[in-house]
Formats: sequence, structure tokens, C-alpha cells
Amino acid sequence: MNDIVKIDNISFEYSQENIQSKALDELNLDIKRGEFVVIIGHNGSGKSTLSKNLNAILKPTKGNILINDMNTKDDSKLWNIRQSAGMVFQNPDNQIVATVVEEDVAFGPENLGIQPDEIKKRVEESLKSVGMYEFKDKAPHLLSGGQKQRVAIAGIIAMKPECIIFDEPTAMLDPSGRREVMNTIKRLNQEENITIIHITHFMEEAVDADRIVVMEKGKIVLQGKPKEVFIHVDKLKKLGLDVPFMTELTYELRKEGIDMRSDILTVDEMVMNLCR
Ligand code: ADP
Ligand code: MG
Repeated sequence: MNDIVKIDNISFEYSQENIQSKALDELNLDIKRGEFVVIIGHNGSGKSTLSKNLNAILKPTKGNILINDMNTKDDSKLWNIRQSAGMVFQNPDNQIVATVVEEDVAFGPENLGIQPDEIKKRVEESLKSVGMYEFKDKAPHLLSGGQKQRVAIAGIIAMKPECIIFDEPTAMLDPSGRREVMNTIKRLNQEENITIIHITHFMEEAVDADRIVVMEKGKIVLQGKPKEVFIHVDKLKKLGLDVPFMTELTYELRKEGIDMRSDILTVDEMVMNLCR
């Protein structure tokens, strides 16, 4: 099967008052259908710029991006691209447009010109899918941050995307909201086979990814399975990034001369390793 996202040597420059600043620098990345990719990187490394390029909010100044074989520079495909690759942002309040939950979720499919019966069905399915169906008649501003973010996700799912790009969707949430949203994202990937591109600065959210991509200065500087990436503790620290808590603990214990595997990511793995 072909890749859902193909990023072919893209660069992106913001130009402000004749000052050019390169936010993406000859970046290449292909993403397979059904893959769960987590992107990490220090502030200013270009993650949001990349996500906006994937959604055709920005267009590469050099190189090409294909979403489902559609070039993001082809304006005639703009809505097909945004329907195939939906996007969820950091602040749920900026994404909710209606005063009732179910109307908010209906907004996307209405804009796609979908028939009312079908919209009704999709709104119901999408709200059930994020566990927010019982709130369908509620006012969004009365919901918690995690609930609002799940409504925003339902609004995207209602457009039946193949891929969803999440740009730090948990950054403004409390720990329980963060868990709600992460469980929803994982379920969409595992049960509905939606391709996920998840940008985060919480390393624990990267542990279950199929692949982690590390960005720095508009380039990919490291990528691989979580165990392959998090083994580079020193390199990640130099890039200003954390590692999962268990990885940090392993790193410190090994420095003290304790004989244990170096690729531990979770509490379960730590327990197994220490009790063996
Ligand atoms: P991240 O999401 O990883 O924090 P961004 O993609 O937001 O990084 O930013 C990448 C670089 O582009 C940074 O140097 C940032 O200052 C710059 N940048 C981001 N948005 C703009 C903008 N609207 N105008 C000019 N420069 C920008
Ligand atoms: Mg950002």
C-alpha cells in the first residue's frame, strides 16, 4: 500500500518585513497508512510549521507534500486534502464554533456538503467514538478541557479522515484530560485504523508510538521505534528534550554501575528487569 503522507525534501521560510527565516530545512518523511507517528522537538524546531504544511494551511517554499497522492500546492484539491488529513490544535476553545455540542460536530460535514441524514448519523457515531455522545445537547463552554478537546476530535472524525494531525492537543489539559485525549487518539488508531501524527512535549505520550521523529532546526535529527530513539538519552538531553521517567531512572542507575538493560520505557519493564 502506498504511503498516505509523502514529504519530499521540503523547506519552508517565513518572510516578515523582508527578513527570511527558515523553519523547515530540506525535510523528508513518509508515513504509512495506519501508522502512529509522534513528533517531538524543542520549541521552535518547526513542528507546528510542519503540521500546517501537512494541512495545506502553509505551502512549502521548496519541495512537495503529497497527501493521498494529492499535492498540497494544488488548490483545486484543498478540501479533499483537509478532509483526508484533519487537524486538531492545542487550544480547544479556538476550535469550537457552535453553542451546542452536536451542532459543533456537524459543522465540518455540513461544509463538505453532506446530506442531513448522513450528517446526523456521522455526528452520532463521532460523538460515540470519543465517548461524548451523552453530552450532545450541552453547551461546549460548560465542558472540561479534555471533553472540549474530544468534541473537537469528533468534529474531525465526522469528516471521515484517513489521517489526523494533532499539534500538542494535550498541552493545555490537566492530567485526567490528557489521559482522556490520549486514550481517544490511541483508540482511533488501533480500532479505526486512522493514521495519527501526534506532536507533543510529553515524552510519556510517545512511548506507544510506532515511530518517533525528533526535529531540530527544521530538520529530522533522529527517528525510529521508541526504544531506538529513547536509548539516545544524552543526545535528547542536548536537544533540550526529556526522556520518559523510567528511561531517565534506568540511565541514572546504569551510571551508578547497576547491570540492567538500557532500553526500558515503562514501569512494567523496569519491574521485570529488576526482579529477574
Ligand atoms: P515548534 O512548533 O516546534 O515550536 P514552529 O513551527 O512554531 O516550532 O516554529 C519554527 C520556527 O519558525 C521558529 O523559529 C519560529 O520562531 C518561526 N516562526 C513560527 N511561526 C512564525 C511566523 N508566523 N512568522 C515568522 N516566524 C515564525
Ligand atoms: Mg508548536
